[in-house]
Order: sequence, then C-alpha cells, then structure tokens
Amino acid sequence: MGLIVQKYGGSSVGTTERIKSVSKRICRTVAAGHQVVVVVSAMGRTTDSLVQLAREVSSNPSKREMDMLLSTGEQISIALVSMALQELGQPAISLTGAQVGIITEAQYGKARILEIKTERIRRHLEEGKVVVVAGFQGVMRGDDLEITTLGRGGSDTSAVAIAVALEADYCEIYTDVPGILTTDPRIVPSARLMEEITADEMLELASLGAKVLHPRAVEIARNFGMPLVVKSSWTDDPGTKVISPPPTDRCVVGLEITRAVDAVQLDNNQAKIALLRVPDRPGIAARLFGEIARHNIDVDLIIQSIHEGNTNDIAFSVAREVSGKAEAVARAIAPSLGSTDADTDIIVDKKIAKIAIVGAGMIGRPGIAAKMFQALADAGVNIQMISTSEVKVSCIVAEEDCERAIAAVCSAFEIDSSHLTQAPQHKGVPVRAVALDQNQAQLAILLVPDVPGMAAAIFGSLAEANISVDMIIQSQRCRILEGVPRRDIAFTVAANEAQEAQRVLSQLQPKLDFKGIVLNPSIAKVSIVGAGMIGTPGVAAKFFQALAAENINISMITTSEIKISCVVDASHGIPALKAVHSAFGLGGDTLLQVPSRE
Ligand code: ASP
Ligand code: MG
Repeated sequence: MGLIVQKYGGSSVGTTERIKSVSKRICRTVAAGHQVVVVVSAMGRTTDSLVQLAREVSSNPSKREMDMLLSTGEQISIALVSMALQELGQPAISLTGAQVGIITEAQYGKARILEIKTERIRRHLEEGKVVVVAGFQGVMRGDDLEITTLGRGGSDTSAVAIAVALEADYCEIYTDVPGILTTDPRIVPSARLMEEITADEMLELASLGAKVLHPRAVEIARNFGMPLVVKSSWTDDPGTKVISPPPTDRCVVGLEITRAVDAVQLDNNQAKIALLRVPDRPGIAARLFGEIARHNIDVDLIIQSIHEGNTNDIAFSVAREVSGKAEAVARAIAPSLGSTDADTDIIVDKKIAKIAIVGAGMIGRPGIAAKMFQALADAGVNIQMISTSEVKVSCIVAEEDCERAIAAVCSAFEIDSSHLTQAPQHKGVPVRAVALDQNQAQLAILLVPDVPGMAAAIFGSLAEANISVDMIIQSQRCRILEGVPRRDIAFTVAANEAQEAQRVLSQLQPKLDFKGIVLNPSIAKVSIVGAGMIGTPGVAAKFFQALAAENINISMITTSEIKISCVVDASHGIPALKAVHSAFGLGGDTLLQVPSRE
C-alpha cells in the first residue's frame, strides 16, 4: 500500500460534472489499495474572477484582504470534491491550509512554505479517509492564523510540498494536457509528449512549462527527490515523469527555499576562446561550431553579443585540456568565415574560472543577477563574460580572482562556501524540448567602461525599477575610447517593460559614461534544453545549422550547461522553432489534442 498525493488543477475541477469524474478517479486509486491525499485548485477561472471583484471595489486592495479573498476559491473546490467522494461512498474530509498547518513566511500574496504539519492529515488517513487539501494557501506562524497565498499557480507547489512532508511515494499532477510536450503544439502541431524530463531541464523550460507545472513545485521535487508525474485528468495515459536526483537528507523544516539562490557552482577547469569581428550573417555560428564539433570538442558556454557595425563577437568556453585543439580549429576556420574589414581577432585565455548562481527562486524576481554583479564588484573582481538562463547566471572571471569571487558570491547569497556544487552531470538525450518566447525586447548598452561595478550599477537600477531581466550578455570585444577600455552589455526584458528599461538606463548615462542605448523591440528567443548536451559535442552546431538552413540570422547567443538560447528577428521566431524542433527529431506522427489556452 502506498501513499499518493494527487493534485487537480482548476480545469480538472472546473464544473460539478468534472468534479464527479475526478472523484471517480480518486476512488479508483483508493480501490487499488493506496492512501490518497488530494490537493485542488479553485474551480476553473475562479481566482481570476475574484481578482476582478477586488478591482471593482478598490484600485489598490490591501494584500491581506486579497489573500483572504483569493483563498476562498480553493475552499469551494475542496468541499465539493469531498462531497462528491462521500456521495460515491468514499469517506473523505476537506481541510484548509490553516487546518492542516501549512506554515508559510509572513508575507501576503507570494508566501513560501516553511513547514507542513502532518499529524492531522495522517490521523484522517488512518481513519480510512481521503484527505482533500486546499492548494495555494497557508497560514503564518502564531495564534492569529493569518491566511497567506503562495502566488498564482501555487497549488502545484502545495501538492509537492505536502508529498514531501508526508514522505509520499509519489505526487501526481493532473491537468488538461496529456503531460509535458516537446514544444508548443499550437505552433508546431507535431509536438510530442515526453515520457520523462529531468527537474533541471524542466526548470530551464520555465517559459514553456510554467503553465503546466509551477517552477517552485519542480524545485521542491528536485531538492527532496520526490517523484512527480504530470498527466491528463481525462485519460489513463501515463503522462510525463519529472525525474529528480536521489533524495538528500535535507531538513523538511524550511521546506521551500526562501532564498532566490539555491547553490553556487564553480568550474575552474575552463579556457575561453573568443573570435572578434566575425561577419554578421546567417551561417557563421553554424560553420564555426560545426567545425568544432567535427573535431569532437565539447563546448560549454557560448555567447554572441549584439553586433556593432556588421560584425559580431563570439566567445565560448571549453575544458582546459582541449583548449589548444579548439584554438587551432578556430584559427584554421577564421579566415574562411569571410571577414571583410580587419581580420578576425582570436583571443585565448586559459586562466579563467566560471562561477554560477543557480535557483528557481530567481524566476520573476528582479535583482538577483544585479546582486551577484554587485558582490563581485565590491570584491574588486572584474567580470569578463556573463551568460544567463532562466535559473542560472554564469560569470567568467580571471582565475586569480576566483577565490575572492566565490567568497563574495557565497556570502551575498548566504550559501555555505563549503557547499559548492558542480554543474549537473546527467546522462540523457541532448535535446529534450524547444521553446519560443515572443514577448521580449532586446536592449544594448554600448561602450560601457570596463571596470568592476558597471554590470552591478546597470542591473541594480533595473531591479530597483522592478524590471526583470532575462538573457544578459557582456561582450568580449574591448575597445578603447577616450582612453578607457569599454565593452557592450546587451540583455532582454519583457517587451512591455522595454520602454521603461530604456528610460531607467538613460538616467544612468551621465554617471556611467556609456555611449548609447539601442532598443530592438521585435525579437524572438528560441531555446533548446537537454541535460544530455553536457559532454555531447555538436549540439550547438546542429542548432545553429538548423537556423542557417532557413537563412535566419542570430543576434545574440547565451547558454547554461543544459540550455542554448538564440535571439533572432521577431519574424523568424516561428520558422526557427519549427526548424529546430524538426532538426532534433522531436516531432511525432500523432497529433495531440490540447485545449486552447489564453
Ligand atoms: N487558484 C490559484 C490560481 O489560479 C492557484 C492554482 O490554480 O494553482 O492561481
Ligand atoms: Mg494551475
């Protein structure tokens, strides 16, 4: 006999008919001999309607009353599910977050879970009942029982946290899609259901997967090794398994990471190779990395900054022992890449280290990258390269600065520096999924003086203005102007925040003395994700070749170990997604039926 936590999303309990059908499914699980805890969302769009009601009454409702209001949605659905179960002859009891003892931070609107009491749930399970718990809500510590909510989409987080606290065998997330797909099926109809995906991959896919599974839930599952499966409420298909590393002995008190950064990673066995002034046209990255792959060299970070004039800089890192070989390949191919003006310069630096911060908590939380840059600046460490992904910020620094840099970053994020982790080393398929983000704009700040503290000042100001930054790149090319070495810094933000970002930056101009801001509002970001790309040469090359074959120009490249993202022109977003999905053989023959979402 096992203990299973099942979570049903808003659409799965959207009508009383659906509640009845879901209840039958719950009974089947009980009949198979399991104890079941059910976690439910509010019915359908209830939470949206409640938000709307609040707006009609107040332009700026108090956060406390907002949580009081929003938490009622789940209270309706737990009672109805419980009644439907009882109607089927299955003993059941519904419990609110406060009744269970789901203890959260003292913060309304987006509280994180600190602890879940298990006594009451266990008692009812022992009585043979199904326990139906309200998702998305908790209470603060203390006698006042102040109700909190976890942030929109938070009932996934409730479910996984409850599963961890109860040491359940696994947690099932029931939804209205068959599982997690290789890409967005509305754009690529041949999108296929994945049988499995690792939690780390899922986190990097936040922009694609967040509608199906909340990143905070994935992070908890990963940290505690809780098996998760995402499947349809309407079929018996197996869905998608989210695989986590084996459970650790993490303490379940302080269950959710309340910090944005979960770990600091160090790799000091890297070398950097940069090609300056390569021509800006389709196919260049494809040829360069095609050649590198042909020599079986595995690349780690790749960045390509926005172009100045009609040339680009491309920099990448490789393991130090193969850097000689990589340099030779780069030197051999450079002349044939077709530079017209000054020859392509090649810079090789073997004395570098890569320091990265990782954590799902940084999604949607401005200021995390800025804090890292500030910590490095305060320690007098200059940043040579920056590359970011959804859940990671990587900086290349000089090897001699490495210890100071690690100490500074660990102390800024309160990470014990004896707990440095290595980047993930999973085996798996090189590319699991492909994502497209069409809601971003690109900003470039030109000729920023290359002294410690610049990135910190720029991203600190954006964070103060509450603007979340996505991809960040600091260019390789260093130009001397007015006696000062300078670099470009480029990044992407949500399209609707681009104007504001530009305004904030222009105010910084007199202080920072950079030479211009360029805004490109019409871009698209295409990303590939797969843990198996670590140690597999040729993945980047294949990605870039797929774009080149469609004559699509790449204006920015950033990477993490398990993700590569390219910025392309907005009009190329969809063709790029289709080409890349098919280049990696991700398409299937069977068309999946997926309900349309807004
Ligand atoms: N009902 C909440 C929301 O709509 C929580 C959830 O559905 O996960 O955001
Ligand atoms: Mg949801």
